[in-house]
Amino acid sequence: MADLQKLQEEMTTWRRDLHQHPEFGFEEKRTSAFVAAKLREFGLEVAEGLGGTGVVGTLKRGTSNRSIALRADMDALRINEQSNLAYKSVNPGVMHACGHDGHTTMLLGAAKHLASEGGFDGTVRFIFQPAEEWGRGALSMLDDGLMDRFPFEEIYGIHNMPGVPVGVLMTKSGAMMSAEDNFEIILRGVGGHAARPHWGNEVLVAACAVVTNLQTIVSRRVSPTDVAVVSVTELLTDGTRNALPGLARILGDARSFKAEVSENIEKQMRIIAEATAAAYNVSAEIKYTREFVPLINDAELTDEVFEAARTFLPSESVQTITEPFTGSEDFAHYLSRVPGCFLNLGNGWGSAPLHNPSYDNDAGLSYGVKTHAAIVRRRLPEAVSS
Ligand SMILES: [Zn+2]
Ligand SMILES: [Zn+2]
Repeated sequence: MADLQKLQEEMTTWRRDLHQHPEFGFEEKRTSAFVAAKLREFGLEVAEGLGGTGVVGTLKRGTSNRSIALRADMDALRINEQSNLAYKSVNPGVMHACGHDGHTTMLLGAAKHLASEGGFDGTVRFIFQPAEEWGRGALSMLDDGLMDRFPFEEIYGIHNMPGVPVGVLMTKSGAMMSAEDNFEIILRGVGGHAARPHWGNEVLVAACAVVTNLQTIVSRRVSPTDVAVVSVTELLTDGTRNALPGLARILGDARSFKAEVSENIEKQMRIIAEATAAAYNVSAEIKYTREFVPLINDAELTDEVFEAARTFLPSESVQTITEPFTGSEDFAHYLSRVPGCFLNLGNGWGSAPLHNPSYDNDAGLSYGVKTHAAIVRRRLPEAVSS
């Protein structure tokens, strides 16, 4: 990897260019054109426009018919960047605050490195997906025939992680990140004069009771050995200072690691919302959607990632995550179709948190390239000539 120092400088330029020109999910036109042009320059076969703005690069070496995929996400967030960086976002209200500019860059770096250095036998698919933050990009590429047109047997992805030293790789087998469900409960009654509540049938007190009663789902209805979160995040009404509301909307977010826990949360929510509304003589309508599925890493391939990482990292820098995160990740959709492993690379102790308006991430780029390349060389080994 003698060329990695030069590649690191090149990648820093790409990453800062992407950081300066962030694009929201499914709007990554400039970013995907940038990615496609670079992949062509490195000599890969390139397909554009998958699932909207997705790009797939294919690199083949040797004679093996084995195929693996490496994936990066390209989208930014609707956040106003607050930094003094020379490469601060030029798109007001849009920012790479989750480090997807770094993921795109390190996968481009890996494509350049593997195209020039080889060292593997088989096919590598470089997948650049749109709209990870929406939880829609992976599905839109899969629905657009990703696996039929560009088949692969296993898949790997990287997310940069603040609070973890640069040069530390972390992952775990089994459940690593949670499912995310969203819900909306609409209560309907009769609004009216604030001085005469008994003349109408207002909904605010009923809504407060629903919010309180929802707290019993995790504490009383989910097994203590299962992880679950039910968070009410918004309570909106059509009331005003001197008028009681006739309509209330309760919105929120639920996390879990098993399909049966997610189903149980929905079931209990319906029971509680309908019965509480009935107790206050108002009606309840419940909308419950599943946005992200749980991210489950394959045990054997997680061990393979650890082995690959130990070829270039000291063993104390290759770490097992002990507790799953209640964050969610669109990569889970690929893992529900083929085995693979999602892993984290440290972005440093001093890093701003993910989704923070001053997020920045040059530090781990070369570790990303080394990780991708080591996984490819381990999973698609060259035949040993005798
Ligand atoms: Zn994010
Ligand atoms: Zn992210």
